[in-house]
Amino acid sequence: MSSNSSKLIAELDARIAELDAQSLRRRLRVSESPCAPHVQVDGRPMLAFCSNDYLGLAAHPRIIAALQEGAALYGAGSGASHLISGHSRAHALLEERLAAFMAPQIEQARALYFSTGYMANLAILGAFGGTDVDLFSEELNHASLIDGARLSRAQVKVYAHGDVGQLATLLSESKASKKLVVTDSVFSMDGDLAPLQALLALCERHDAWLVVDDAHGFGVLGAHGRGVLEHLDLRSPNLIYMGTLGKAAGVSGAFVAAHASAIEWMVQRARPYIYTTASPPAIAHALQTSLDIIEGPEGMARRAQLQTLIAHWRESMRPQQWQVIASDTAIQPVVIGDNAKAMKVAAALYEQGLWVPAIRPPTVPAGTARLRVTLSAAHEKADVAKLIGAILELERTYA
Ligand SMILES: *Cc1c(COP(=O)(O)O)cnc(C)c1O
Repeated sequence: MSSNSSKLIAELDARIAELDAQSLRRRLRVSESPCAPHVQVDGRPMLAFCSNDYLGLAAHPRIIAALQEGAALYGAGSGASHLISGHSRAHALLEERLAAFMAPQIEQARALYFSTGYMANLAILGAFGGTDVDLFSEELNHASLIDGARLSRAQVKVYAHGDVGQLATLLSESKASKKLVVTDSVFSMDGDLAPLQALLALCERHDAWLVVDDAHGFGVLGAHGRGVLEHLDLRSPNLIYMGTLGKAAGVSGAFVAAHASAIEWMVQRARPYIYTTASPPAIAHALQTSLDIIEGPEGMARRAQLQTLIAHWRESMRPQQWQVIASDTAIQPVVIGDNAKAMKVAAALYEQGLWVPAIRPPTVPAGTARLRVTLSAAHEKADVAKLIGAILELERTYA
């Protein structure tokens, strides 16, 4: 081993030690059972409030069976990228199904399936970016949108959280020939909703695209689970909608739904679509069953159960010092503030068998470290009551 490489390692180790000292070091925990409220973690039984499996579909027997059936029908791997030979009948059927599902919200809807939401966001912003584009980005957007904005080569202008007035000013001042407004629908660390009606009205007035990342809304919001667009009754050719399929849909991947011409442009230009191997067709096959469930009576019952749990949380979770953020979604943060304190509280909960992640900077702004509680239709009311009791008790010790 050369002394050069050990110098490199020593430098990294020093940086990692620095993270440790600031309570910013992240650690992997090994989950040993299917995703569900009751899981085995590092050998211990835990009640989890961490996952984005909002409808409890990740281990649904019908979806597991569909995944097995998909493997039997299509094999394990796709073998190539979509534009070479990897675009299977399963992918095509899923895209047709997603386009039909989203058709009430998007004119001349077509859908494109991606391996992950992260890639879908890079793909949208890459395909619709360019040096002649002004990109208006909401300050609390997900990291994948921030990275996509960097890759887009557009002029990026950040507007404050929910500040429609500031966005209106920025749009009026813009001299760019093409404009793109980019926002999360449900903010992933806060759980609140973007003012999408107002944003869409502005975009229509300024001939701007509105990119909506509905990672936490698809499947959960709207009577049929079509997400935030159905929830707010929005429909427009200016919309570029991104929904993920690894959260409420319980499997993996994501899709973009937009006007057929916008999707055709992405097929031609979106690098994260073109230069990657298509995901296993069995996943696309399983997702069709997931959509059957989301759209049907079982999906409706699961959304109703989730709403019941959210209402229970909002009524009963009334801390004295710590803050809850007004959220009607499955994401229910408890803001503690200090990094070390948030870590201690999460560790104390973990000791009691309650698994809740502490979220620290840079994922959230400095001074707003928090517990990020996520509720799922698979939780029972008693599970939620137990967590509320434990957090309020710990507040008396740590606040
Ligand atoms: C999870 C998430 C993504 C990324 O989706 P993946 O399918 O997990 O890659 C994108 N945007 C938001 C807001 C998310 O929460």
